[in-house]
Amino acid sequence: MPEVTETADEIAQCGYCTGDVSRTAGPRCDQCAVFHHVDCWNEFTGCVTYGCSNSPDMKKFQGGAI
Ligand SMILES: [Zn+2]
Ligand SMILES: [Zn+2]
Repeated sequence: MPEVTETADEIAQCGYCTGDVSRTAGPRCDQCAVFHHVDCWNEFTGCVTYGCSNSPDMKKFQGGAI
């Protein structure tokens, strides 16, 4: 039986690389509540969720103003 670790209170899944990320460490999108590693957020320059207002694509649509 696979080991199941119930760490949902502390560990979330990064929306970018799907790796484990601490809920208290990385940035969490305030629009769609997806967690990210700091490095992943910076590399993607925003939220990885398509269509999210914090995603880089949507920022472009809004004129690039941050
Ligand atoms: Zn990541
Ligand atoms: Zn988002």
